[in-house]
Amino acid sequence: MKTVLTNDPLEAAEFIKRGGIVAFPTETVYGLGANVFDEQAVAKIFEAKRRPADNPLIAHISDIGQITTLATEVTENAEKFIQIFFPGPLTIVLPKFDAVPYIATAGLDTIGVRMPRFELAHRLIAACGVPVVAPSANLSGRPSPTTWHAVAEDLDDRIDCILQGDPTEIGLESTVVDCTGEVPLLLRQGAVSLEQLKAIVPETRPYEATAHEQPKSPGLKHRHYSPTAKVLILDHKFEISNIESGAAYIGVNERGDRFQVTRICRSTDEYAQSVFEFFRECDRKGIKTIYCEMVEETGIGAALMDRLRRAAKG
Ligand code: AMP
Ligand code: MG
Repeated sequence: MKTVLTNDPLEAAEFIKRGGIVAFPTETVYGLGANVFDEQAVAKIFEAKRRPADNPLIAHISDIGQITTLATEVTENAEKFIQIFFPGPLTIVLPKFDAVPYIATAGLDTIGVRMPRFELAHRLIAACGVPVVAPSANLSGRPSPTTWHAVAEDLDDRIDCILQGDPTEIGLESTVVDCTGEVPLLLRQGAVSLEQLKAIVPETRPYEATAHEQPKSPGLKHRHYSPTAKVLILDHKFEISNIESGAAYIGVNERGDRFQVTRICRSTDEYAQSVFEFFRECDRKGIKTIYCEMVEETGIGAALMDRLRRAAKG
């Protein structure tokens, strides 16, 4: 299949309406979308990405009213988060409505719902007329794509269309919060921080799987965000005694060491925004080791450290 490139959301929506799959930009990362109610189209997402079938997808809406076509109930806590954070980089997990096929939720009775605030995403979803399920538009396990070039690098000729936009504003995937129980559980960190959620519902806490329990966020057990290069996390005070050739560095503080590739970011926001593209750039250049500076775990820094740790485990 030849992948069509376009910057027209109406042209891109036509592919989704006809049962195809389309990559599109949001404020977090690029997503790979299909009509949530079309099982065959959803199956194509898993195939194109080589995504394990037990990793659920997030449904993206353009209008709050669409939640009632996806979820049986909007719980009280969900309602509070929606009022403050929709549209934006927050995904809310709710009990799923029957019409949502199990392939989209990886067999779970719950569904993640998000309303992107990025205009181009909004126009695409609105033109589709249905919620659009979309995981990140990368090959499974690779760093999430924050540019349309990164999408093409992984998925060219495997998907129907790429809606071309600018590099994504945030650069890390959405915050995910489970609102099905009494206490909201933070399943994945993102640009909406735990502190921000607690300011709305003080009981909100990070989810910790107990040994005998099924993980609530199945996706998090999979290999994630990893470049081919080895990722090492670095305290900025730490001295590297012997830098091997083929090493790269990204962080907010300059270092005296000589690296083959260096990226100094002006802020933690810029670090988060550019880290996945930096990983890809390093892979293209055949870098063997990427040193990533540690940051303070507040605001977006918490989500960034989470992704760096996962990449380091990779
Ligand atoms: P991606 O969009 O590629 O980051 O993948 C979506 C991620 O959202 C999954 O890997 C899960 O961690 C999380 N997620 C989506 N739906 C659910 C759900 N129903 N319950 C728990 N976590 C979910
Ligand atoms: Mg992903």
